[in-house]
Amino acid sequence: MLSYEQARQKVIEQVGKKRGPRATLGVSVWDALGLVLQQEVKADRPYPPFNRSTRDGYAVRAVEAAAGKKLQCTGEIKAGDTVAQTLAPGTCVQIMTGAAVPPGADAVVMIEYTKLESPDSAGTTPQVQFERDAQAGQNIVAKGSEAAAGQKILAHGTRLGYAELALAAQVGAVELKCAKKPRVAILSTGDEVVAVEETPGPFAIRNSNSVSLAAQVRLAGGEPVLLGNAADNIEVLREKIRCGLKEDVLVLSGGVSMGKYDLVEAVLKEMGAEFYFDAVAIRPGKPAVFGRCGDTFVFGLPGNPVSTMVTFELFVVPALDLLSGAEARALPLVQAQLGETLNEKPGLTHFLPARVEWTGTTPVVKALKWQGSGDVAAVANANCFLVVPADREHIAAGETAAVLLRKDVV
Ligand code: AMP
Ligand code: MG
Repeated sequence: MLSYEQARQKVIEQVGKKRGPRATLGVSVWDALGLVLQQEVKADRPYPPFNRSTRDGYAVRAVEAAAGKKLQCTGEIKAGDTVAQTLAPGTCVQIMTGAAVPPGADAVVMIEYTKLESPDSAGTTPQVQFERDAQAGQNIVAKGSEAAAGQKILAHGTRLGYAELALAAQVGAVELKCAKKPRVAILSTGDEVVAVEETPGPFAIRNSNSVSLAAQVRLAGGEPVLLGNAADNIEVLREKIRCGLKEDVLVLSGGVSMGKYDLVEAVLKEMGAEFYFDAVAIRPGKPAVFGRCGDTFVFGLPGNPVSTMVTFELFVVPALDLLSGAEARALPLVQAQLGETLNEKPGLTHFLPARVEWTGTTPVVKALKWQGSGDVAAVANANCFLVVPADREHIAAGETAAVLLRKDVV
């Protein structure tokens, strides 16, 4: 049986083969959060566009502003002021953060290290006394030092977060060519499942998996296509799966275990699917299936809600990364100190709903009490999954453990 790392690798390998030019669309910089850039963005002019002061203080010639020396202050420059006049020798000008440093000046001395002598009654030009030696280049960001005009500042394939969008906006790239989101059909299965808007009978359950899956698809940069629920019946499944195969990805929940009514794999096979794995050495989530049917990648995730959530994060997210035009992101694993001793059955890698807290210098993680893979409340109280390696039966409090962050809430 594959380890979860090997199974992820299979996904990346298979979906990676389908890469190539993606369908694109022009998206306003206001709406492009989370999309993947399919163009380069270049600086339209040097950045900063002028020698920029990073402090409130005095623009000087550094050699003239030694400790104990005084210079005449001949004026002031605010952010946005046009600056053309060269700083006359023996003088300084007051300057604000973000303002252009005048030609001739090569340092800005912070106001905190100066003393301004007010003009006397005769109206003499005020003098500024310096407390420390000025250093050339101090508190100035040179024109073009962040980017030269025409320099590439965002690469093809970049995922657009808030800083990337700000950078595009800064250079005037207000419309961005982005990859279309992959369309992900979501189909739950099970005779016991009813739509979340319905009142379930005494032995039925609401289709919460389609809700969590749609949210996970959105977070991963995909567009959910909701197909509802299919009864555990070959004809119904075939019909619904056929609809799902029109999309880039089909994610099914339920029907992949060993039970008599777990029909998903058989129906997919009969419809021509090729499978790359049909079990992974993890708990929850062991019966997870990944394959391809025609042009559509298919994930059959076990129906227990926590299994569905975990297997989506492990296996579907990298597929959606690649189909969105980006690289597959690494799992958001961090190291944390175990707050309480753990005893787990060996043999499978466990993903336990847990809380990591950053109150001290090192993050500390504790597994939450839970009733197994049906316990959605445990995950809703968790902000991560504690990863217990397959070969570990006992991990003592104080040892380091890996934690898979829930990026949606952390
Ligand atoms: P299965 O993987 O089909 O054996 O399903 C395992 C269990 O997961 C079922 O007995 C249900 O309790 C639960 N389950 C299956 N599908 C859903 C769903 N769409 N929403 C919430 N729970 C589900
Ligand atoms: Mg079922």
